[in-house]
Amino acid sequence: MVEPIKSQQTFARATQVIPGGVSSPVRAFRAVGGDPIFMDRGEGAFMFDLDGNRYLDFCGSWGPLILGHVHPEVVEAVQRAVSKGMTFGTATAVEVELAEMIISKVEPLEMVRFVSSGTEAVMSAVRLARGFTHRDKIIKFNGCYHGHSDYLLVKAGSGLATFGTPSSAGVPEDFVKHTLVAELDDAKEVTSLFEQYGKDIAAVIIEPIPANNGLLLQRPEFLRFLRDVTAKHGALLIFDEVISGFRVGWGGAAEHYGITPDLMTFGKVIGGGMPVGAFGGRREIMEQLAPLGAVYQAGTLSGNPVAMAAGIATLKILERDNVFVKLDALGLSFERALKTALCDVPVGVVRVGSIVWIALQNKLPRRAIDIDERGISIYNAMHRDLLNAGVYLPPSGYEVMFISTAHAQSDLDGAADLIANNIISRLKL
Ligand SMILES: *Cc1c(COP(=O)(O)O)cnc(C)c1O
Repeated sequence: MVEPIKSQQTFARATQVIPGGVSSPVRAFRAVGGDPIFMDRGEGAFMFDLDGNRYLDFCGSWGPLILGHVHPEVVEAVQRAVSKGMTFGTATAVEVELAEMIISKVEPLEMVRFVSSGTEAVMSAVRLARGFTHRDKIIKFNGCYHGHSDYLLVKAGSGLATFGTPSSAGVPEDFVKHTLVAELDDAKEVTSLFEQYGKDIAAVIIEPIPANNGLLLQRPEFLRFLRDVTAKHGALLIFDEVISGFRVGWGGAAEHYGITPDLMTFGKVIGGGMPVGAFGGRREIMEQLAPLGAVYQAGTLSGNPVAMAAGIATLKILERDNVFVKLDALGLSFERALKTALCDVPVGVVRVGSIVWIALQNKLPRRAIDIDERGISIYNAMHRDLLNAGVYLPPSGYEVMFISTAHAQSDLDGAADLIANNIISRLKL
């Protein structure tokens, strides 16, 4: 690896004109230390920085790149779309095509609407749930990320407080007063929230495969309990599948666990690397949206034809190449390689399909409060060594790794060795 001089120089320029030098905070490497690396281009499972260094990419742009970088068919579809027009601000057939593809694959969906990000998808789904139920409160879970809209930037209050506190400056306490926060895997807490506020609760929102704060796999019974308790109280169940949708299988976590939520949100994979989000559900709920219903929701670039083309091309390849089976096999072998190499140390490997998280602690956590921060520190310290060895891990121990179809078995074996050896040497210190 050559000294990343150009990255350093560009970062120096960036910090003068962009806060922290980045367009999204975790890219700044604050958790792992050192300066961020500036990427120039991608190729399959690899990224190349401005100085020409090559990295095996386990971040996958935080989830979208299920086929790796610059998949030729996706690129071609995008080029074709661009040459026809980058945006029209009118209805287009490609939106219908992607909507039909998504609905045909995801059982609980009868209608979808497209937006430009996961944040917007979730924000719109929650508004729709509130409009549909004529109720204001929502329950979210500590450790689940649902984008950066005000009332979802909430962490669990201290002690037994059920009302969350804003986790960002600039979010008035008043804006989060309808957001109740519970711990994952805690049916008792959710039950007591419903006992207290049941008539006012519009929805429970959860990442059914929580993957933004470690990978906090839930017990299927807990998810089924959420389905039952919401139905019982006339609240909606929203599955935020922005990561898990079209990543863990065709039907996302809903299919994985055999649970039918009322609303689902998508992003990441369905945009094939372009900015896209979508939310959908049953017809009777979705028809409450403007222009049919009273719930307003809009977007200048929503359903953008270039983004739709990238999404359509991606989903077609997922189907043709039987990608989920392939990814699961790659994921399993990566998991096994890590587990074998780490068998003598207290480290767990959590995996669903191609989503992998290394839990540097004895017991695998199901709740955010069970994550051992010492393990996160070890991961964060390891990050720079791996970078120097040409492996790009997500720049925070709370983030999951993504495997794409472009990752070769040999790449994964090599990376597993490097990661395991680094962890073992650090645990010996
Ligand atoms: C990434 C993510 C979001 C936000 O999506 P953006 O496109 O970053 O706005 C929302 N929910 C979940 C579960 C996510 O992983």
